Amino acid sequence: MSVAPPPTVPLDDRFARELAEMALPWPAEEAPDPRLLVLNEPLATDLGFDAAWLRSPDGLRLLVGNVVPGGATPVAQAYAGHQFGGFVPRLGDGRALLLGEITDTHGQLRDLALKGSGRTPFARGGDGLAAVGPMLREYVVSQAMHALGIPTTRSLAVVATGRRVRRETILPGAVLARVASSHLRVGSFQYARATGDVDLLRRLADHAISRHHPGAAEAERPALALFEAVVAAQASLVARWMLVGFVHGVMNTDNMTISGETIDYGPCAFLDAFDPATVYSSIDTGGRYAYGNQPAAAEWNLARLAEALLPLFSDDQEQAVALAVASLDGFRRQYDAAWSAGMRAKLGLPEGLAEAVVSPLADELLALLQADRVDLTSFFRLLGGAARGDAESARNLFLDLAGFDGWLARWRAAGPDADAMERVNPVYIPRNHLVEEALAAATRGDLDPLVRLLGAVTAPYDERPGLGRYAAPAPEDFGAYRTFCGT
Ligand code: AMP
Ligand code: MG
Repeated sequence: MSVAPPPTVPLDDRFARELAEMALPWPAEEAPDPRLLVLNEPLATDLGFDAAWLRSPDGLRLLVGNVVPGGATPVAQAYAGHQFGGFVPRLGDGRALLLGEITDTHGQLRDLALKGSGRTPFARGGDGLAAVGPMLREYVVSQAMHALGIPTTRSLAVVATGRRVRRETILPGAVLARVASSHLRVGSFQYARATGDVDLLRRLADHAISRHHPGAAEAERPALALFEAVVAAQASLVARWMLVGFVHGVMNTDNMTISGETIDYGPCAFLDAFDPATVYSSIDTGGRYAYGNQPAAAEWNLARLAEALLPLFSDDQEQAVALAVASLDGFRRQYDAAWSAGMRAKLGLPEGLAEAVVSPLADELLALLQADRVDLTSFFRLLGGAARGDAESARNLFLDLAGFDGWLARWRAAGPDADAMERVNPVYIPRNHLVEEALAAATRGDLDPLVRLLGAVTAPYDERPGLGRYAAPAPEDFGAYRTFCGT
C-alpha cells in the first residue's frame, strides 16, 4: 500500500547551490517531544502550507527540522560580523538552520529557517538551543512590527521541543520557524570578502541582486546599485523604528539584512518615556545601540558593507572608495527625509505644509517629551484627541504646561487631521511589561496572556473596548527594564 506524500510545499536549495562555500549542510537535533505553542495561520497559508497539516505530528516534525521535505538541504549559513565594533570573521548560524526557499502563493521566494535547532559547527561555546520565552518574544514582536507596517522577518511557529535548556535556571526549550525574504546580512558580505575569493563575493552580490533588488542588475555598476538599494532600504527601516520607538538592541553587522527587513529580536524593546539615551540590553554597557544612536549605527554598518563590496565597485581602488563614500552619503539624506515624512504624518500635518514649519514643531515637541519623560506611544495617540478639541488628556502627560500649551497652539494653527493621525499612531505596541508577563506565563505553560497580547498588537491602530491595559504604560513598580541577549 502506498502512503500519500505529506501535504507540504516544495523547498528549493538555491542558497546552498549557488553559494556552497557559505552553506554547511547540517541536520537539526532531534526534538524529544514537539508541542505546538503558536502557529501563524495566515502566514502558513501565504506560504502554501495546509495549516491543519502543520499542526499534525508530521507537520510539527517539519517545524523542528526532524523531517526534511524532498529536495531540501538544511544548511547552517556562514557569515562574519562586527559585534559591538569588533570584527569576528567567522560567526555563522550557531543554533539556526536554513531549511530552504519556498515560492509563496504570490510568487515571492522566501527563506524558511529554524532557530534553536541544535548546535552546528558555528556554535562556538553555545548550546545551540533556545528557550520558549525568547522564541515567543521574537514571535510577538515580529507580529507587532508586521502589523505596524514595518519590514520584518516573520514568525511561522514556535514549537516546544520537550528538551530542557540550561540558562540561569532550567527552562523549556523551543524552536522558532522563521520566514524571511532572505537571511543575507551585511555579515554575509563581510564573510565572502574575508575569504579573499572575489568570485564568491560576486556570486553573493548577484544572488542578493536577483532576490532583493533586481533593478540593480541593469545598472552600469550592479554592485554599487545593490549597495545603494541597501542604503535606501535601511534608511527607511531605521526611520520607521525611530518613529515607533523601537530599540533593536544588538545592531551588529550580522543582524542587519540586505533586504531591509528587521531581523533578530533578541534584546529588543519599545520606548516608553521618550529619551534618546535609552538602552535596554544588559550587554550594551556603552550604549552603542541606544535608541538615539540607531541611525548612526546603521550608517556605520553600511560603511562596513561598502568596504566588503569595494572590489566589485571598481578595479581602481581609489575610485571604488570615492564611489562608496558618495553612495553612503545618501544615507543621512534618505533617513532624514523618511523620518520627517513619518513625523509629519504622526503630527497629522498636511503634505503641502512647508518643512520650515514642520521641522521646528517636531524638534520642539521632542525636547518637551524628553524633558518630561512622556510616554511616546500614549502621547501621539492622545494628541489625536487634541486635534479633535480635547487637549486635556495629552496635556496631563506634561509637567511643563506652559511649554506644552505654547507648542499646542502652534501645532493647531498648522491644521492637523485627527483621522489621519489615528491611522499612523498605534494604540497597542508590545510594551515591555506585557511581553514579560506573557512570556513568563507561557514558560509556566499558560498561553492565554500571550494570545491576548497578540490579539492587541496585531491590530495596533484599532482601539477596542476592554483592552485599556494594553494601551497603558508600565506600572510604576515595573522598574528599570533590562533585556538579555543570546538567550
Ligand atoms: P545574535 O547576536 O543573537 O544574532 O547571535 C550572534 C552569534 O551567536 C550567531 O553566530 C549565533 O548563531 C550565535 N549564538 C547565539 N546564541 C547561541 C547558542 N545558544 N548556541 C550557539 N550559538 C549561538
Ligand atoms: Mg543574529
